[in-house]
Amino acid sequence: MALSQEQYRESGLKLTPQRMAILAYLEGNILHPSAEDVFRAVRRRFPTMSFATVYNTLEMLKKRGKVVELTGDPDKKRFDPNIRPHHHLICTGCRKIVDLKTEFNLTLKAADQAGFQIMGNHIEFTGLCPDCQRKR
Ligand code: ZN
Ligand code: MN
Repeated sequence: MALSQEQYRESGLKLTPQRMAILAYLEGNILHPSAEDVFRAVRRRFPTMSFATVYNTLEMLKKRGKVVELTGDPDKKRFDPNIRPHHHLICTGCRKIVDLKTEFNLTLKAADQAGFQIMGNHIEFTGLCPDCQRKR
């Protein structure tokens, strides 16, 4: 589900023009941008935007469950405005992250749960994307 300004307002936060630009960039974004990516994109329209504003806004959105932080890129945190559970393909060459449309019916036997109450799961398929395969 894409993040909307509506949802943002519901969370009781002041919607500054800078934050709106960050939200607009994230809404429907399927590229799983890093904080640096978001910063680069919004700085074009807001040259005075600081990286700290972008970083803090992303952290705040994450805390409020409006974006998901992905750990599949070892170099930097990546953010996903699609908070519906889904899995990812990750390129080990260029770190491209692509959504998987397939849903997997994953269950754990009670013996494997170690007493955990299971809340979710996330599969990362790693490999080389078409662009990186061509470069080899
Ligand atoms: Zn690649
Ligand atoms: Mn995703």
